[in-house]
Amino acid sequence: VSIQLKDVLMDTDLIKVLVDVAKDSALLNGVLMRTKETPNSSEVVTYAPFTLFPSPVPKAIFHQALTVQTHFNRLVDKISQDSNFLEEALASTIKVDNFTERLFNIYRHVLQEGRTQSIVLGLNRSDYMLDQKEDGSASLKQIEINTIAASFGGLSSRTPNIHRHVLKVAGRLEECKRILDNNPSAGLAEGLSKAWDLYGSERAVILFLIEEVQRNIYDHRYVENELWKRNIPVIRRQFEDVCKTGCLDQNKRLFVDGREVAIVYFRNGYMPQNYTEQNWEARLMIERSLAVKCPDISTHLAGTKKVQQELCRPGVLERFFPGEPDVVEQIRATFAGLYTLDMGPEGDKTVAMALAKPNQFVLKPQREGGGNNIYGAEICHVLEGVKNSTERMAYILMDKVQPRPVHNYLLRLGSPLKLSTCLSELGVFGVYVRYGQDMVLNECAGHLLRTKSDEHSDGGVAAGVAVLDNPFLV
Ligand code: ADP
Ligand code: MG
Ligand code: MG
Repeated sequence: VSIQLKDVLMDTDLIKVLVDVAKDSALLNGVLMRTKETPNSSEVVTYAPFTLFPSPVPKAIFHQALTVQTHFNRLVDKISQDSNFLEEALASTIKVDNFTERLFNIYRHVLQEGRTQSIVLGLNRSDYMLDQKEDGSASLKQIEINTIAASFGGLSSRTPNIHRHVLKVAGRLEECKRILDNNPSAGLAEGLSKAWDLYGSERAVILFLIEEVQRNIYDHRYVENELWKRNIPVIRRQFEDVCKTGCLDQNKRLFVDGREVAIVYFRNGYMPQNYTEQNWEARLMIERSLAVKCPDISTHLAGTKKVQQELCRPGVLERFFPGEPDVVEQIRATFAGLYTLDMGPEGDKTVAMALAKPNQFVLKPQREGGGNNIYGAEICHVLEGVKNSTERMAYILMDKVQPRPVHNYLLRLGSPLKLSTCLSELGVFGVYVRYGQDMVLNECAGHLLRTKSDEHSDGGVAAGVAVLDNPFLV
């Protein structure tokens, strides 16, 4: 239970008032989403799901997460440039996971052809949970790093105002100070803007590659509008549009609808369902082009769960950061246990370990977007089916992080109001731009707290499980 807010949480009359106040505040602050019924229209919109109260996060751990972000940016960028490492790390995975294999084929294609663009733009989000230790203290453990289509940088820029307002109305004026300002959308736009400048053509546009269903459009718009403020033109297109009208000129400049594209910002393309055969061709064309890709195919692959597991092996971080033991130490401190399921004695050991204590682990396939992981008894069921075949190499095993639950109300359109036992996940946005060999921008751009009911093992706001939240520094 969040000690500071215990009395407020139990005051049902006050809660009813606060819920209305909070929802109106969300609408007034633009923490919005389109509805399930009309995902592609802005005629009727609703608040994005969020918690009634902010959730406690220890100050030191919060700052640890922000501080390590620039190191993670460098790590992702270094991995993306190390073809030997990517080949080795993903060799087993691509044998059995068709999606990763197809991404990898595009990677090989562009490697062979030779890369045309020396501007690299990375917008990522490293996610963490706070593992509760026996002495009651917590430790920061990375869940994953998202190197493609990491969302909620826009909406999370507007959520602090809601919780400050709710706390004030609840008579907790002092506590408002513990909610920090946050503006990831400005940082994301800064990265896009820097890469656009380097591309060096005033007429060239930034293309947001979007999904067909656009419930979360306002999150995009915050970033988009920051760009328009800087007179940088943005177009929003689907893969289908790129298929129909996209082409490369003799210099491999990318044109879509007759407009030169400086940057393709992927807010789509992270899961198999996003790809038809035509869409794969469009992805290949984009990757071969002179346009800056956010992310490029190698950075996309650097964000796979298999790569995350390989980074956990002794000596691997040292290889990426020779002579920087302090950086290695800071990154490694955030790693939870990660285990290979490759064929061989090491993988066999992982299987045995998982079958013996399934509740202590999460079994993860190479997927994104929430709802794909396997937990508890289901781990045994799945592993029994694949443990003697190469199919098991499509997964990795990870220690289950066990955060301290906190009570809160999750506000979501259509959900009845009830006090939930909740778990939170802290995300940190990273932004970097490399031009040839030079890192010309490397920043931490802000944070995101997402909170879910502990009835759910998996997460994700878009998946309908987690909701937006703010850290309440304690
Ligand atoms: P995705 O790319 O689908 O978001 P994640 O690795 O982030 O995949 O897993 C989805 C969700 O599952 C997380 O948001 C978190 O709620 C839960 N989860 C994942 N890994 C762990 C873990 N090691 N311990 C506890 N929960 C986890
Ligand atoms: Mg992910
Ligand atoms: Mg995730």
